[in-house]
Amino acid sequence: MNKHQTNSPASASALDFSAFSQGLYIDGEWRGASGGASVNVTDPSTEEVIATVSDATVDDAISAVEAAAAAAEGWRSTPPRKRSEILRRCFELMIERQDMLARLISIENGKALRDARGEVAYAAEFFRWNAEEAVRITGEFGTAPSGTNRIIVDYQPIGICVLITPWNFPAAMATRKIGPALAAGCTVILKPATETPLTAYALASIYEEAGVPPGVVNVITTTSPGPVTSAMLADPRVRKLSFTGSTGVGRVLLAEAARHVISCSMELGGNAPFVVFDDADLEAALDGAMVAKMRNAGEACTAANRIYVQSGIHDAFAKGLTERMAALKVGPGVEDATECGPMITRKAVDKIDRLVEDAKLRGAKVLCGGSLASGTGFFYPPTVLADVDPEADMAHEEIFGPVAPLSRFETEDEVVKAANATEYGLAAYVFTRDLARGMRVSSRIDAGMIALNRGLVSDPAAPFGGMKQSGLGREGGQHHGIAEFMEAKYIATSI
Ligand code: NAP
Repeated sequence: MNKHQTNSPASASALDFSAFSQGLYIDGEWRGASGGASVNVTDPSTEEVIATVSDATVDDAISAVEAAAAAAEGWRSTPPRKRSEILRRCFELMIERQDMLARLISIENGKALRDARGEVAYAAEFFRWNAEEAVRITGEFGTAPSGTNRIIVDYQPIGICVLITPWNFPAAMATRKIGPALAAGCTVILKPATETPLTAYALASIYEEAGVPPGVVNVITTTSPGPVTSAMLADPRVRKLSFTGSTGVGRVLLAEAARHVISCSMELGGNAPFVVFDDADLEAALDGAMVAKMRNAGEACTAANRIYVQSGIHDAFAKGLTERMAALKVGPGVEDATECGPMITRKAVDKIDRLVEDAKLRGAKVLCGGSLASGTGFFYPPTVLADVDPEADMAHEEIFGPVAPLSRFETEDEVVKAANATEYGLAAYVFTRDLARGMRVSSRIDAGMIALNRGLVSDPAAPFGGMKQSGLGREGGQHHGIAEFMEAKYIATSI
């Protein structure tokens, strides 16, 4: 067993967190932060500190860039087949250790074990998928219209990449970037969210074991993300920023990257509409709503944030959804029976409470839940609200919690207009038995991803990403994800 593995523990106390206390992973070594500072990691179910990790300084970040630069030539010239086999091994090791990784995610993030197991499988798949992509990077070859020369287009690794990820999918948001970056031949520095660094470090030890050379992946946690990121982006060796997180931070980073003309991929916030037409299969729509709303207890960028139900099916849908939401077992994520774990922080719970109170003041009816739970842990009860005012704050902000707001609609035009009345455009859900209508509404809704009669849209084999202020670029999919980490080089040669 290596230093980052644990036996499958049933609770935080059964995990050996001492292995994670050394902190930063730079150039294949585990190092303390140069400033000697550290940051606590908290279990959101118990509010107890479960581990301490090093808190990187600007100097540590520059050391990580230096390690990535030193490893760059060796990695980009490693044969694609060899890179592919290493990525495949990362996939296999993650699947072998699925249970351990799921428990770790569950403890530091709070999500229910079943969601955490799903996340590990999804996260590992980005290595399998990109192992297959690594050996299929092709170029283009043609004759110029003038007939005087050939046009050769070669796709090359973009260079050193800074990857910044959120806490809600601590494994998958990292592998969705690391998989294609490594397949393309890039070296990277990952900055995981401060709330969930342990999963990132556990995965780093898996990469090492799989044969990823020192310096190809570096992982640093910091409580100074602004200065640390600015220093890395100002280093001319860094050529790519791939960010997943809120639209607000994304805007700040785009401005920062613009100063150095750095290529950006941005996976930002969402405000997904979930539309149920009268002719929908009621059970399928309810199943879909539970997945779209409650995966990760609602802490997902793709989460159904506004649920529009046509008046003919509205009452039956509201009744069915309320029964299912009220029956969910709430508890610590790491307990097998739990279906809805805690939120990530007290601040997150307070935001949900503010949004629910605002909707209530504007006339929303509480069908279940709807008030803050007391006691230990950052819990909020599964909640269904009916007749939510379109001007309520929750119609415009991400709820990021287990709250399902219902609104009634009459016509297709009305619901398309409502669905598009947001600055976001990440995911949308449409339920109807009329395929022509399903396709028509899918094309009219401004979102990068539409789930038609399904509650789940994420798939490593499909391009994930948003329109409008939900982001720039795509992750996963046939060539989309890997293309974000490559640059086209055109060579003109005389005939
Ligand atoms: P966040 O506050 O934007 O943080 C995301 C990451 O950015 C964290 O690692 C954070 O570090 C870092 N960060 C914060 N301020 C920074 C700065 N000034 N410079 C550089 N890095 C900075 O988002 P979050 O609360 O962790 O995650 C939830 C958000 O992510 C939601 O809006 C959700 O919709 C979005 N999300 C989008 C997708 C997608 O694929 N589109 C997927 C998942 C989540 P610290 O942890 O140290 O603050």
